[in-house]
Amino acid sequence: MSYRGKLIVKPDTRVTLADIDPGFHGHHKSHEEATPEIADNLARISDLQELLYAEKKHALLIVLQGIDAAGKDGVCWHVITAMNPQGCKVTGFKQPSSEERAHDFLWRVHPHAPALGQVAVFNRSHYEDVLVVRVHDLAPKSVWSKRYKAINDFESLLAENGVTIVKFFLYISKDEQLERFARRLDDKDRQWKISASDYAERQYWDAYIEAYEAMLSKCSTEHAPWFVIPSNHKWFRNLAVSAILRETMEGMHMKAPEPTVDIAEIRKKYHAAVAAQKGH
Ligand code: AMP
Ligand code: MG
Repeated sequence: MSYRGKLIVKPDTRVTLADIDPGFHGHHKSHEEATPEIADNLARISDLQELLYAEKKHALLIVLQGIDAAGKDGVCWHVITAMNPQGCKVTGFKQPSSEERAHDFLWRVHPHAPALGQVAVFNRSHYEDVLVVRVHDLAPKSVWSKRYKAINDFESLLAENGVTIVKFFLYISKDEQLERFARRLDDKDRQWKISASDYAERQYWDAYIEAYEAMLSKCSTEHAPWFVIPSNHKWFRNLAVSAILRETMEGMHMKAPEPTVDIAEIRKKYHAAVAAQKGH
């Protein structure tokens, strides 16, 4: 079975993360062994994105969620870089500004949805409003509990307008997170990534797991599926995400648009003349 089929959350199933191994790495044994396959996926994604850009009939929205250090930035560095920046925009969602907070929670998100021909990547997303908000009681339950339906409706609206949506939940273990924090502390170039709040958030780990499970169980739909990506191994994460993106984009059945000009005439009348001139 493809990784798409294996890692997808089927609509209306209850997800229990304890049943999923964040260290899973399929039949691949090492980074070295997976590298050619990752490279092949990235090359194919590049070609498919060019078609998407040229055809302008589809758009693609990629949502990345996961606890601190799960690898959201890593996916941008190692997978999303296969995309031509001319047709791809990454938006990171941080704590809302006071203006954003004064609007409904989707207000700040909608302008970043992709236009036809474009790819949009959300590094964190509207799901923060049922994750950090739920875990820290930033809004009452009566408010956040209605958001799952609002999110499904919002994503339906995008899908009806030609947006293919794929959502990746990057799943790491609590021990792996601590090791990654330690490596950040030891690496001068990556110390900027660490903050006291990263450690403070660890005491809410179980509450986050519960919130992730609710998100995955309520908001994986036919038109906007969630994938749980075992992410303790960064290389497996990159392999699985790239394989799923590739398969998703192949399923969009895109083709280069028909030329709007008469190619035979251009070849005969213009190209042949210029080429002949150049020859003399
Ligand atoms: P980072 O992605 O590490 O730069 O951190 C961004 C921070 O913004 C995280 O702690 C998120 O939980 C937080 N954040 C993102 N969206 C929201 C939101 N809607 N409400 C509150 N906090 C948020
Ligand atoms: Mg962070």
